[in-house]
Amino acid sequence: MQASSPQHNSLMWVTDRPDLVFSHGAGSWLVDEQGKRYLDFVQGWAVNCLGHAPDAIRQALADQAGRLVNPSPGFYNRPALELAARLTAHSVFDRVFFANSGAEANEGAIKLARKWGQVHKGGAFEIVTFDNGFHGRTLATMSASGKAGWDRLFAPQVPGFPKARLNDIDSVAALIGADTVAVMLEPVQGEAGVVPATDTFMRDLRALADEKGLLLIVDEVQTGIGRTGKLFAYEHAGVVPDIMTLGKGLGGGVPLAALLAREEVCCFAAGDQGGTFNGNPLLTAVGVAVLDTILAPGFLDAVVAKGDYLATRLASLSAELGLGGERGRGLLRALVLADDSAPAIVARARQRMPEGLLLNAPRPNLLRFMPALTVSVEEIDLMVGWLADIVGSRP
Ligand SMILES: *Cc1c(COP(=O)(O)O)cnc(C)c1O
Repeated sequence: MQASSPQHNSLMWVTDRPDLVFSHGAGSWLVDEQGKRYLDFVQGWAVNCLGHAPDAIRQALADQAGRLVNPSPGFYNRPALELAARLTAHSVFDRVFFANSGAEANEGAIKLARKWGQVHKGGAFEIVTFDNGFHGRTLATMSASGKAGWDRLFAPQVPGFPKARLNDIDSVAALIGADTVAVMLEPVQGEAGVVPATDTFMRDLRALADEKGLLLIVDEVQTGIGRTGKLFAYEHAGVVPDIMTLGKGLGGGVPLAALLAREEVCCFAAGDQGGTFNGNPLLTAVGVAVLDTILAPGFLDAVVAKGDYLATRLASLSAELGLGGERGRGLLRALVLADDSAPAIVARARQRMPEGLLLNAPRPNLLRFMPALTVSVEEIDLMVGWLADIVGSRP
């Protein structure tokens, strides 16, 4: 058994992986150990918002690694203070707790809401969540997720996450009772296949939460940090949530996530929340570099323009080939196919020669596109051209 063979190795099996090993990348391109190049429209599942190996991240990591990696979460460090200050200055939130994954940030949001329920709402603890929602892979966040079959995986579930239907305010109202403390949703359901909550639904949720004295929690792990063309997706609807979580794009590829809350909601007592690696300067320094890049003048305007362009190209491809249309917001988009051929298309795109194309199929009948926010119009054209060839020519 060869340690270097991708088929025979010491990693725990959790999913089938293609028989190739990636070696390096730059921008929208990845290169495997055989030297084959791939145009990457997955980007680590919407994680590498600045593409592969951007100078800003390389510089921040190298500088910080040579200075201070972790003084302990019991002490302040400058990059964590700076990143928190930037996040609060550019959002409706007042306080930030850093985490290491989206799921951990969501665990923190659930804990904060339950604590708030204990302090302010007579022990209310239920959080209304949504069918097909995705919040992570810890026990509580799997219970909060609405993925089919997940209610039986690793049973028993963590209780307290009744499921409503997205964009159906009556289905939310019907679940609210004395034990309800919050409503939690993705502004665009990503894993469900890029299904946006409408702006009206977001505003109705805010009104309902106000009327019933509930917290509104937005999981922006996938939609945050410019992905939808605004820094945060809640801005599209003009609502003010009480709690938000970030992950994926926040670190531009390194494991960095965050829980943000308005001052009125912050009620953790000493010892309620923490973590060994949380807010370490090595990764929060990367967050500062990512945010400074995304907040530079013109960056988000370019995301909007490229998102519109990708939408137009996908819509005409759909019309040309008789597919089911496209949807999404900014550079988080999906193309609905005419059949369940998405996994086969993903495989053929990857196997394409001489250059491959990396795509994602969160549903059998649908492709999801989450390129680097720095993707070029030429790269979008290249991707759509290759995709047209693959979808247009049946195997
Ligand atoms: C990816 C994702 C998560 C989980 O983040 P991890 O870093 O994988 O734990 C949670 N919520 C949403 C909306 C996501 O897209």
